[in-house]
Amino acid sequence: MAVRPPPTARCDRCGRPIDEVQVALPCPDCAGPVGISFDSETRPNARRGARVDGLWRYGAALPLRDPNDVVSLGEGDTPVVRLPRWGAAHGMRNVFAKLEYIAPTGSFKDRGTTLVVSRAREIGARELIEDSSGNAGASVAAYAARAGIPAIIFVPAGAPAAKIAQIAATGADVVRVEGPREAVRDAAIEAARSRNAYYVGHNGNPYFEAGTQTFGFEVARWHFGHVMMPVGGGSLFVGGWRGLQRAAAPRAILPRFHLAQPTGCAPIVAAWRRGMGRPVPIERHPTIAGGAEIEHPARGVEILRILTASHGGAVDIHDDAIVAARHELATLEGIDVEPTSALAVAGVIALLRDAVIRSEDRVLIVLTGSGLKVPA
Ligand SMILES: *Cc1c(COP(=O)(O)O)cnc(C)c1O
Ligand SMILES: [Zn+2]
Repeated sequence: MAVRPPPTARCDRCGRPIDEVQVALPCPDCAGPVGISFDSETRPNARRGARVDGLWRYGAALPLRDPNDVVSLGEGDTPVVRLPRWGAAHGMRNVFAKLEYIAPTGSFKDRGTTLVVSRAREIGARELIEDSSGNAGASVAAYAARAGIPAIIFVPAGAPAAKIAQIAATGADVVRVEGPREAVRDAAIEAARSRNAYYVGHNGNPYFEAGTQTFGFEVARWHFGHVMMPVGGGSLFVGGWRGLQRAAAPRAILPRFHLAQPTGCAPIVAAWRRGMGRPVPIERHPTIAGGAEIEHPARGVEILRILTASHGGAVDIHDDAIVAARHELATLEGIDVEPTSALAVAGVIALLRDAVIRSEDRVLIVLTGSGLKVPA
């Protein structure tokens, strides 16, 4: 990975150049999504960076000008393990889990954060602001500390105590906001504007997505028929799919991409069932899967397009089924994940019942967050 010309940020729709401290927000002129252009390898190649551990071995395919600006805690390269006992309980022989919670701060968010904070340091950001139900905040707080940049994390007043403690542990300021998740986001954006701070906004930040693409680079080494993950804003779903497309051999058969959402907040599933191309308004109810509670996912259209393109499926899961799936995985395999992550486990059972997944298929369940974050 050598020093290269810097990435540039532009509106994907109208072409307006975008100031990078606001790269996570929609275009101020036309509200289009912001994209980055960068001189990078189109086919990622892990061997090129073989002397570093983790996802930066794909550095030549990632948007950063100077390798000296990398802020890394060793994220990426997560293990894939077979689930023989859980599989047998459901009549499946080829079910695997990718342990995305084996990450520096315990969730897949570290894949995106390492890119965002590296680039933020490269452009000289003096303060980072993020809004989060917990995991993105803990991730940004840790990488900000690693970079020596102060961070302020806005969280819902009801976020789990263990997650708030994790954010505060690495020295970030925590601001609790009452009201719906959108109020937390608005407060963070307002603060970022008034302080001229860098807004991380992982759900809209193209650098975050560039980092989550490495999940797809890793999955491309395997041959799965199905991939199932929980989805809120869809950063791992969209980034993972794009990364898989970049990394897969020409004409390779890609896995079907499935998603699960909590019944209390399932705008993508509602749209999918009605054959709509964009998320539909929903009536929200409380859920224990707080990491997937996004009522208005900014990438909804893209998520639905990927479901169609990959012949995927979308299912909603009740909280009691989430709790049962967490317990069953922990007791049969010794793997304890947080409720949001257990959505994917319950999601596979639902698709098996619907005969979308068959018992002999090769299935990958993405385990996105550690059980330590939300003790059972
Ligand atoms: C953030 C998060 C999700 C959802 O990711 P999105 O990018 O919002 O779709 C799922 N599981 C865990 C553990 C998370 O932290
Ligand atoms: Zn625009």
